Amino acid sequence: MRKLFDFHGGVHPPSHKAQSTRTPIAPVPLPSRLVVPLHQHAGETAKPVVKPGEHVLKGQLIGMPDGAVSSAVHAPTSGTIAAIDMQPVAHPSGLPNLCATLIADGSDEWAARKTVDYREHSPSALQHLLRMAGVVGLGGAAFPSDVKLRSGMQRVTTLILNGAECEPYISCDDMLMRERAAEIAHGAEMLRYMLGAEAVLYGVEDNKPEAVAALQLAIRDGGYAHEAVAIPTVYPGGSAKQLIRVLTGLEVPSGKLPTEIGVQCFNVATAYTVHRALARGEPLLSRIVTVTGNVRRAQNFEALIGTPIAELVALAGSLEDTGGYIMGGPMMGFPLPDIRVPLVKATNCVIATSAKLFPPPPPAMPCIRCTRCADACPAELQPQDLFWFAQSREFGRAQAFSLFDCIECGACSYVCPSHIPLVQFYRFAKSEIRAREHDKQLADLARERHEYREYRIEREKREKAEKLAAREQAALADKLAGGRPLTPQQRAEQAELEARRAHIVELAKSEVEHVQE
Ligand code: SF4
Ligand code: SF4
Repeated sequence: MRKLFDFHGGVHPPSHKAQSTRTPIAPVPLPSRLVVPLHQHAGETAKPVVKPGEHVLKGQLIGMPDGAVSSAVHAPTSGTIAAIDMQPVAHPSGLPNLCATLIADGSDEWAARKTVDYREHSPSALQHLLRMAGVVGLGGAAFPSDVKLRSGMQRVTTLILNGAECEPYISCDDMLMRERAAEIAHGAEMLRYMLGAEAVLYGVEDNKPEAVAALQLAIRDGGYAHEAVAIPTVYPGGSAKQLIRVLTGLEVPSGKLPTEIGVQCFNVATAYTVHRALARGEPLLSRIVTVTGNVRRAQNFEALIGTPIAELVALAGSLEDTGGYIMGGPMMGFPLPDIRVPLVKATNCVIATSAKLFPPPPPAMPCIRCTRCADACPAELQPQDLFWFAQSREFGRAQAFSLFDCIECGACSYVCPSHIPLVQFYRFAKSEIRAREHDKQLADLARERHEYREYRIEREKREKAEKLAAREQAALADKLAGGRPLTPQQRAEQAELEARRAHIVELAKSEVEHVQE
């Protein structure tokens, strides 16, 4: 039995998971129109490689990764590209983004698929395949998996598969582990190979006993040296730093990444996607999503990326008193501005809300310094102080109090008796600090450009003077070609020329030193 460790704080909100785990994962009828955003991952937007009017096959590349941190995007079914333009997407800002609109032809015809035996390829070749298969973290952040693997190569001894799924209402990972544990374990073994890790641990909260049992069976049947561990159910136990702490006792230092202590975490759904990409040659075209809350049939669906969320909600049957929708969980999710937006790789859950399920919070009251928020904070911060600094715009002090270690889990807001929306203040402070840093970077860049321009003007002046002096010297040499003795005037001209050349050489030297500084 593995020894487990505690982390500081945490809360126990009602789980609300039972209603969406009564029935198996359901397929979704093929939508007639899909909108596929080209920016569904952390990093640079993928570059469109198809044009309106073009016919594409299921799994065909439609967005090429652009830059070191980027990921590919594919056609989720066969059909015709109707447009490449700005469309509303699932984002808290409500701002549109570049999307490919695909009109399905109904045949769902695959492009050629190529499977690989991962043991016959180098880790870096497999990472490239994952980048081109559009594999990103499915736990919510959608960080390109190839980049995470690259940063962890040769540094990671322990690979952790995150199946904690600690946030209320969300049950997509639970159902995936119950139904497709063998594929998850196979994908985890591929990740282990790519990282060169020795140990593989799965962390699953103990409110998912079926998932733990399914993983244990898959590990045994696959003959893998992995370990599926049931961990205590406490929010936010599925946050990477907290999960690492619980399973290994190791602390990720402030401002550092888990790889710096030899650990890397991937979501179980990401491992499943890695299996599909390599063993079945299928890029990331679909995901499991929980549709729950104020609906008649809360359920998990396997839906194509680009499916309008409204179609998923219609399948679950939202109730008449539904007042809105949240993407993600109630603690860390955000309200969807419009449910006609498409499902993206990061959409793990859609919750229909009502005044009964999510009563509006009472008005915020002044902070009474009760420190309940500090007791609940898993990052061991002082949320009441951070709140004060954010409110009074003392951003430097907020940073000094480790604002950026805040994982925005909302545990502090959950326990606050004054109903202060603390996380909103932290998000505000972080965005202000980032905006100021961005402005400073722009100002530094402008200063560097100005200095370089000055240097260039000086250099051009010097080069002109050098050319002129060379011409004058050549002319003088011509005059002296006859070997006649120099007149006093010629001697004076030659001396002046040599003095000017010496001055130019000095100037050039001092500029080189200036640039080297
Ligand atoms: S829990 Fe709320 S009232 Fe209590 S110290 Fe924290 S911010 Fe203040
Ligand atoms: S939101 Fe930030 S400050 Fe609040 S409990 Fe979570 S980590 Fe701590």
